[in-house]
Amino acid sequence: MPLSTSRKAQATLLVVLSILLLGGFLATSLVSYYSSRDSIRYSIVNTELPLTSDNIYSEIQKDLIRPTQIASMMARDTFLRDWALDGERDAEPMTRYLREIQEHYGTFTSFFISEKTRTYYQAKGVLKQVKEEEPRDAWYFRVRSMVEPYEISVDPDMANGDQLTFFINFKVFDYQNNFIGVAGVGLTVDAVVKLVDDYQQRYDRSIYFSDSQGRLVLTGAKGGPMGIQRGQRISDIPGLETLQSKLPAPKSGRYSYQEHGRGHFLNVRYIPELDWYLFVDKHEEGALASIRHSLYLNLLICALISALVLGLVFIATRRYQQRIAALATTDSLTGLPNRRGFDLLAAQALQEALREQSPLSALLIDLDNFKQLNDTHGHLAGDQVLRGFSLALQSNLRQSDIICRWGGEEFILLLKDTGSSTARQLAEKIRQQTEQEVFAFNGVNLRVTTSIGISELHRDDNLERILARADRALYRAKQSGRNRVCEETFAP
Ligand code: GH3
Ligand code: MG
Ligand code: MG
Repeated sequence: MPLSTSRKAQATLLVVLSILLLGGFLATSLVSYYSSRDSIRYSIVNTELPLTSDNIYSEIQKDLIRPTQIASMMARDTFLRDWALDGERDAEPMTRYLREIQEHYGTFTSFFISEKTRTYYQAKGVLKQVKEEEPRDAWYFRVRSMVEPYEISVDPDMANGDQLTFFINFKVFDYQNNFIGVAGVGLTVDAVVKLVDDYQQRYDRSIYFSDSQGRLVLTGAKGGPMGIQRGQRISDIPGLETLQSKLPAPKSGRYSYQEHGRGHFLNVRYIPELDWYLFVDKHEEGALASIRHSLYLNLLICALISALVLGLVFIATRRYQQRIAALATTDSLTGLPNRRGFDLLAAQALQEALREQSPLSALLIDLDNFKQLNDTHGHLAGDQVLRGFSLALQSNLRQSDIICRWGGEEFILLLKDTGSSTARQLAEKIRQQTEQEVFAFNGVNLRVTTSIGISELHRDDNLERILARADRALYRAKQSGRNRVCEETFAP
């Protein structure tokens, strides 16, 4: 196979191998990445987020149940109702009562608003008069006109520096079921905020609450997702703009959305006690970072292994090619170039000689009666003689001379920068040396003689012609008795 064809085959092999290796590695890495990603997503959506949501919801319920019971008790308290029905003559017993509730039950605030006088009583005394036109008092008139006996609301507490507070507002009735005011307690949402912060930090998720209009009502201490603040709308969160348009109001359920190319999972839960929605939001970046990292590591290892395998295959095939090329141009018995090797070297030498008009001579050497030697002493003896003869031949040559085992017991020499007279001298030397040489094989001394045909290169000559002339000269040498040198001169 010509070298260029085998190089092409090698390149094809390497390309196919790289496609198989890289394709295979890439496919297995990606399959394992995607399946881990799916199972992580599944566990976030179906386990992690609902669990967080459940925990926070039950914590809120727990926080709200006791104060609801206290406020209910206040609304039924005979002292409170009697005192109000008695004309609210002295504020002191009422403030003491409220103080007692606050201190004993550890509430943040406690209050009673009288319908008759619209006075707002709290533990520290009379706070103010509630007025219909005052927006901050709107809650009182809302409670007053609602059908339900009580409500839980979250508002800033004006009696306590506007801290965000859960209020449990109970309607108070006299013994004839006439509305006489609103009593209740307030609790700071610090505990819930702390819980939210704790969850946010521990589980790397974002937790926030919205009212039914989609306004953010409660977040961790550092604000809501993407830093939005209480009072802002959920629809202000990039990626959540459409959530509200999809739904008239947020609805319990699972959602996913994109924010600056990052995937988010969202669990929304309705809290009926507050008419709020609890949002538990987790972006997949953090959760997927470790498997993405192992994907990159996998790919890197795959790339290194592929490079190593391809490198080794490249070296192995290159060596194999060189070996095949050497074998194809070398004769195995003598180690001399064979006809194929000779063709490459001779074509080049001929071209040089013609271009530089320098002399070049060809010697065609044939061992005499070699068949007979084989027949008498065996084929192995003949091989030994061929090896010995080729060694002797080489010892007579210059670096620049080209030698070849032409076939069987025939050899060719191409002598660069050598005219026919020098060639004849060398041929004669070879003939004489061979005649005198003894080749030992298995204790038998073998002798052989050579016939040599010489021809010299002429202008407009080619390899075929110069060798044909040398062959004719050799034929003459054989014809005229063997063990001699003959020369064929140029016959145009
Ligand atoms: P001539 O003097 O006319 O050249 O006679 P010859 O016997 O040398 O010529 P012929 O062409 O009749 O025989 C050549 C012999 O060389 C026959 C063949 O078996 C033998 N021969 C060719 N290659 C090898 C080889 O590699 N090893 C051995 N041992 N013998 C070989
Ligand atoms: Mg022969
Ligand atoms: Mg012969």
